[in-house]
Amino acid sequence: MTDLLTPPVALPQERRQVTEIPGPRSRELLARRAATVSAGVGTTLPVFVARAGGGVLVDVDGNSLIDLGSGIAVVNVGNAAPRVVAAVQQQVAEFTHTCFMVTPYEGYVAVCEELAAITPGDHEKRSALFNTGSEAVENAVKIARSATGRQAVVVFDHAYHGRTNLTMAMTAKSMPYKQGFGPFAPEVYRVPMSYPFRDPAGMTGAEAAARALAQIEAQVGAGNVAAVLIEPVQGEGGFVVPAPGFLPAIAEWCRAAGAVFIADEVQTGFCRTGDWFACADEGVVPGLITLAKGMAGGLPLAAVTGRADLMDAVHPGGLGGTYGGNPVACAAALASIGTMRDLDLAAAARAIGATMLPRLRALQQETPAIGDVRGRGAMIAVEIVRPGTTEPDPGLAASIARACHAQGVVVLTAGTYGNVLRFLPPLVIGQDLLTEALDVLAAAFAAAAPA
Ligand SMILES: *Cc1c(COP(=O)(O)O)cnc(C)c1O
Repeated sequence: MTDLLTPPVALPQERRQVTEIPGPRSRELLARRAATVSAGVGTTLPVFVARAGGGVLVDVDGNSLIDLGSGIAVVNVGNAAPRVVAAVQQQVAEFTHTCFMVTPYEGYVAVCEELAAITPGDHEKRSALFNTGSEAVENAVKIARSATGRQAVVVFDHAYHGRTNLTMAMTAKSMPYKQGFGPFAPEVYRVPMSYPFRDPAGMTGAEAAARALAQIEAQVGAGNVAAVLIEPVQGEGGFVVPAPGFLPAIAEWCRAAGAVFIADEVQTGFCRTGDWFACADEGVVPGLITLAKGMAGGLPLAAVTGRADLMDAVHPGGLGGTYGGNPVACAAALASIGTMRDLDLAAAARAIGATMLPRLRALQQETPAIGDVRGRGAMIAVEIVRPGTTEPDPGLAASIARACHAQGVVVLTAGTYGNVLRFLPPLVIGQDLLTEALDVLAAAFAAAAPA
């Protein structure tokens, strides 16, 4: 097992600080950035990266940071993973683009074959490739509407589905994703999520599903629903893991109502939660599944994969895009998926969870501000609250994140209330680095504790 976790890169796997963070070179680049890059593009951590691999990012000042972000769940196979680099280098020298809709190439077809093999369910499947998660979500909605002849799309509280116009409407959180960017697309309806930490104590998944479904039936009408779209474990919304039974009940309702159950696995997919896809955990088989982030080792590639009858209901030419399924990105995806299979990165994700969860639960015992520890595989979060309550404390979450950054550990925040620290290490991170990162986190909580 530890052998599988050994980073396959030459970059020293260590946390190393040679300057303050950010260092002088990063500060220079930050000044150039401010003078030329739109202020609307955010920065989590003010260091500029020079190299990355395994579980570390090396900045332009020579600091080596432990990566618990994976570029937001993208480099599951590690940054610049050797097999991805080799595949990209070969493809980029052969041809870089033809447009698959003009003159096709084998890599696109091979990626779709892989997706048919690894996604849940053994039914006949088809796929279409795109560039971003938002684009995959938009296209899944187009396909569901076309196949059902219906318009309504149901999404959940705390959902994140992207930043394009339709996906902004589907995303729950106003600031920063939607504020000032309306009007939003119509026929999007939001219903309550199963959120065990914030739901009434003891509410089961079946009860939470009944609450959501009653709202759909009363306010949308079952016969109007084209699709119910859900993240099996919510991402930007704060790594909310629904209570057991919730997803199967929603999927079953969709089957009976003739609506398409769409799993948005853009963040949870590709071994992140300890299986190829998170819906497999409860044996849920979605009609359509949206994929992106972890798919291609850092190159932009996205997909909708699903039932052949739905995917083929769209008229020829109805789906596509100039760059969708770019050959270089397809080569990277084939190498990434091969790496996940050969290194059993699903098992690696489970091992990461098995290291992190007990350690974080022990930290919760001595830290009253940690209200909840949750997640699955290598998708783990702690929710920060005012001690003894469920009242969010986004200020403390931000200051813990900043303290980790200053010590050379990349952690991200999330959550509708901004009070969740989330951890998404590359699945090839070494055990020592992971433990060291948890030490830094524990020290940050200890330093923040009221004296
Ligand atoms: C990131 C994300 C998206 C949007 O993907 P982009 O590639 O940023 O457009 C959609 N859904 C989920 C669940 C995501 O995490």
